[in-house]
Amino acid sequence: MNSDATVTLALSKGRIFDETAPLLAAAGIAPAQNPETSRELIIATNRPDVRLVIVRASDVPTYVQYGAADLGIAGKDVLYEHGGAGLYQPLDLGIAACKMMVAVPEGFDYVGAVRQGARLRVATKYLRAAREHFAAKGVHVDLIKLYGSMELAPLAGLADAIVDLVSTGNTLRANRLRAIEEIMPVSARLIVNQAALKVRRALIQPLLESFESAVTTHA
Ligand code: AMP
Repeated sequence: MNSDATVTLALSKGRIFDETAPLLAAAGIAPAQNPETSRELIIATNRPDVRLVIVRASDVPTYVQYGAADLGIAGKDVLYEHGGAGLYQPLDLGIAACKMMVAVPEGFDYVGAVRQGARLRVATKYLRAAREHFAAKGVHVDLIKLYGSMELAPLAGLADAIVDLVSTGNTLRANRLRAIEEIMPVSARLIVNQAALKVRRALIQPLLESFESAVTTHA
């Protein structure tokens, strides 16, 4: 855990940063550089007691779990895979909203395949969520772990189905896939290192409150 008087907030670039920027502004935090264009991974802010660390989305919970960051912003998809050990999840920021869904090629008879007890190959980044979803439905699957471009897997013959995030549905349509089952709604959450919140409450609590009121005003 950081012992100095600076609070470290872990963020990822892209969608989460874009949608977090207005909340940071409303909480009175202005990054000294734009993380989208800067190569620096530690970014100071206008507040001497707040700094940002820029990490990969799936690494945000790990930085916060081990106290390398006090706070972080991570999607529920990523938090579900991480498992949440050592983290408080006090606030749903309501940003980067989408759904985790099962999708198959347009012509694929998923219901028929399941009825026949077929074993399906499913490609995904989200092994835990997918495993639990299909187990609960009694569908036999072999999961194939991918790190990106899940939509390609059925087209290239790697998998029968995918589990991925769907926002507008444009990516699925462009690749002739259709969503057939929702696994969970997803949005970004503020996460806090449990030990840091106890030991450094005086620094962290006011930040939590600013985020809370920023979310209420933006809702
Ligand atoms: P869309 O075409 O709008 O349905 O977006 C789907 C693509 O964007 C997929 O590749 C998803 O993995 C990705 N995506 C959608 N929503 C999110 C989100 N909230 N966070 C991260 N990736 C997302």
